[in-house]
Amino acid sequence: MKDRSLVRHIVIHQRIFDMWKYLLLLLLFGCNEKKANIPTVKETTIVLLPYEGFDTSLIPFIQRQIDSFYHCKVICLTSAQLPSFAYYKPRNRYKADSLLKFENRFLKDNEIIVGLTGKDISTKKDSIGDWGILGYGACPGSVCIVSTYRLLSSPALFKERFIKIILHEIGHNFGLPHCSNNVACLMNDAEGSINTVDKEKKWLCDKCRKQISL
Ligand SMILES: [Zn+2]
Ligand SMILES: [Zn+2]
Repeated sequence: MKDRSLVRHIVIHQRIFDMWKYLLLLLLFGCNEKKANIPTVKETTIVLLPYEGFDTSLIPFIQRQIDSFYHCKVICLTSAQLPSFAYYKPRNRYKADSLLKFENRFLKDNEIIVGLTGKDISTKKDSIGDWGILGYGACPGSVCIVSTYRLLSSPALFKERFIKIILHEIGHNFGLPHCSNNVACLMNDAEGSINTVDKEKKWLCDKCRKQISL
């Protein structure tokens, strides 16, 4: 196992399945750099998976935003209970990598599953065994998880921040690494600060767009 810190991000090289040898994760987002099995934007259906307790009134907004950004078909599953094996009782939160394993059970061909939860989620960061995060996803891969828990303190900015994190995680699923071309590019490394997210626009720079043929 090899860990690589990218300020607000953490790269955790971790065996999950044979097809996933590495996961990169950060305070907000996750990705790695393996090139195989990359979902293609044109052929992918984005599947929303709201976990129990998630505010489902947000679903139409999320669907519209993903559709207008990636031009993918977006569907929504019925709510699922958070799996008990992902629960980390000492901090009353859920392990993001365990949630990704759970989401793989629902996965069909040409789909990306976006888990949505109001509960706190976490992962390992450097020497910190349990670090709270906003989102986590495979890069590339077909599953990610995004949490509203750390965003709810700013109602005015909540929806814009939340959708940026969702679009960023899906970008990782499509194989986009972090980007430093332009502070407005959605694939910036947030580097531990929500301010970085606020500088981003719902926009990908030319390099990122080309990479995923968007
Ligand atoms: Zn990221
Ligand atoms: Zn970019």
